Amino acid sequence: MINNNNNNDNDHNMITRRCTYCNAQSVYHRQYSGEYLCSRCFTKSIHRKVAKTISKYSMIRHGETIAVAVSGGKDSLSLLHILSNSASKHANRLIAITIDEGIRGYRDESLAIAKEFTSRLGIEHVILSYKELFGKSLDDMLTFRKGKNLSACSICGTFRRRAIDIAAKHVNADVIATAHNLDDMLQTFLINVMAGDVERIAWMYPEPIEYADGLRKVKPLMEVYEHEVAFYALINNIPFQSEQCPYMNEGIRSYIRDFINRLEDEHAGIKNNMLSTILKISKVLRDNLRFNRGRCMICNNECSNPKGICSVCIMRMSIDAYANK
Ligand code: SF4
Ligand code: ZN
Repeated sequence: MINNNNNNDNDHNMITRRCTYCNAQSVYHRQYSGEYLCSRCFTKSIHRKVAKTISKYSMIRHGETIAVAVSGGKDSLSLLHILSNSASKHANRLIAITIDEGIRGYRDESLAIAKEFTSRLGIEHVILSYKELFGKSLDDMLTFRKGKNLSACSICGTFRRRAIDIAAKHVNADVIATAHNLDDMLQTFLINVMAGDVERIAWMYPEPIEYADGLRKVKPLMEVYEHEVAFYALINNIPFQSEQCPYMNEGIRSYIRDFINRLEDEHAGIKNNMLSTILKISKVLRDNLRFNRGRCMICNNECSNPKGICSVCIMRMSIDAYANK
């Protein structure tokens, strides 16, 4: 029996419980709702929750082509698995997109897993690398960093968003689906609060904005706990990467993750409450902030910087400047 709480001790001494819905043996205790679930009802509950999120925020329309960003981790492979379950019902075409950042000793395993899993599901798979798109791998870019004032993840994330956009346009997708889960949403919100980045909080509201190029970006797992995505992967035999990115602990995100998990251990359901508050705040901001949506004067991609140069071009210029010193 798995307990959704990080502290698994509570359930170890419990008498075996039956599934709240079908009376089969339960394998999961959803602490915040009190439900006991067998693996079939657990899987169904995740499918239902994701379908509800998609429809509530009009994320995906009938007949659209969805580019699913697949890293090879549990979240993205689970998302692909969940969407592949419903794609034919809604005449959606799925294309998996993997971005190879160029991280030695880490990316190779996840690329192999992503290739194997997409071919198992019969889904087209496109792989693009930082090296071919931006001229340098992430490892190379980081050698030009002065100190660690800029975390690897902020450099990596900036280039990854652009790389996914390029890949999605390349396959004529209508919508890009990324596997950010509920925990990611909470961490991102707190990071934005600490950075004083109100505009990014407004961008968090899940109703997709249509970009000038017609693409929309959606997060269908945004209402599912990270722990539940991992359990979904486990009981549905979804393979996922065991190696962690070597740069993972450079940023503040890991501290925030631990802090929120400790809160949830003591107060089951607090993550759901936090998400609902975040959605209210981001909605108010979205409705009232005026976004700057021009074009980058260097690369002509959409750009929110009032100075007219996008974050990718700014990052490239500073990396090139260090490289040429
Ligand atoms: Fe990139 Fe950071 Fe993710 Fe590593 S942990 S792949 S550096 S965003
Ligand atoms: Zn640019």
